[in-house]
Amino acid sequence: MGVETTDREFVERLERDFPEVEFRWDRPKFSYQMQNGKKVVFLGGPQPNFSLLALHELGHALCGHESYDTHIARLKIESEAWERANTVFLNYQKQAQDNPDLARILPEWDEDFVQEKLDTYREWLHQKSKCKKCGLTMYQTKDGKYHCPRCESFL
Ligand SMILES: [Zn+2]
Ligand SMILES: [Zn+2]
Repeated sequence: MGVETTDREFVERLERDFPEVEFRWDRPKFSYQMQNGKKVVFLGGPQPNFSLLALHELGHALCGHESYDTHIARLKIESEAWERANTVFLNYQKQAQDNPDLARILPEWDEDFVQEKLDTYREWLHQKSKCKKCGLTMYQTKDGKYHCPRCESFL
């Protein structure tokens, strides 16, 4: 099964409106990367909310995300990318009111889907940050290491 025609057309629309970002169809998973100074969005395989996921990766590109140091930073950039995606979406929604062609390919914003996506990061962050000895929530330093405020003493 291929990607829906409307999704394909929506991505083509994004390609036209955001020429500074390159969209590539050759990856199994949605992702965003800087490659040789170019912003590249990799589109995943056919799946529900395809266009929203494309918007999300575009959000990373528009926010200029490059890397993250800590898992908390990861969660932060994920929600930033969705916020940016929503800004682009709302702008399209406004334009679509007198543009039936755009209205036809514009996806529906699915906030439950967005929160579900963010929840997987929240859950992951929670798992990663629990101290295995005492169960207390640890904090992560810039070097990526976790520290438990109870089990580790800095005195
Ligand atoms: Zn993301
Ligand atoms: Zn501990």
